[in-house]
Amino acid sequence: MENNGNLTPYTLNDSQITALEQHYGPFSAMSEAHKQTFIKRLGHFIGSKRIVGVEGQEMFTAIEALVCAEAIRMTMGLSHYLLPHFSVIMVYPKAYYSFVTGLEHAGEVDLRRGVIKLAWVDFGTGIGDQTDGRNLAIHEFAHAIFFQNLMKDREAGYISGQVLAEWKAIAMREMPDVVDNEEHFIREYGGTNIDEFFAVSSEHFFEQPDQFKAEHPELYNILTKIYKQDPAARTHS
Ligand SMILES: [Zn+2]
Repeated sequence: MENNGNLTPYTLNDSQITALEQHYGPFSAMSEAHKQTFIKRLGHFIGSKRIVGVEGQEMFTAIEALVCAEAIRMTMGLSHYLLPHFSVIMVYPKAYYSFVTGLEHAGEVDLRRGVIKLAWVDFGTGIGDQTDGRNLAIHEFAHAIFFQNLMKDREAGYISGQVLAEWKAIAMREMPDVVDNEEHFIREYGGTNIDEFFAVSSEHFFEQPDQFKAEHPELYNILTKIYKQDPAARTHS
């Protein structure tokens, strides 16, 4: 499948911008300059992907823009943001049966085939509430960003190895507590394994930065180095 991260010219149309303004809170909260960068990056990102509705899911350009928006917010601090390994985004209407795991899934990152899958209903719940620390798109794109960083292609290695090692040490220390303590700030699913710990922490990081920073400053700080942005600082500016 063609996917080399080429920057196919793609400009967002009016219905895509309107969809972002109306349904994607982080966009409407951005400064005008920040919005322009966001729009440009989102255009490149959409232009480099094949975004398909499956199992009857209708697709509109507005849906494409919304589905990809979190990937752009999350990578705004990074020089690389196209995630070229993941050339296809599949949108399901609702949770679907996965032949890989034999379970119902709301989302999935298929590393082997380079596919990111999202269920539209769960996606919507995730971006609709930007403060509950649950966000399907952030979760799946966090997996994709993490894996892309390890790939041996031109977008690999945008997160420093030293920072990742530091993060891993903190994660290994924190994970048992996530499993044992149901009051833990990071929700329990994050204790499943180190990949899930990264994805779930990322949901909390972008949606609840103030509380995260107050409760787990060390983990919060290392995530600011991974994503090269500080969402808590933004909420105060
Ligand atoms: Zn996951």
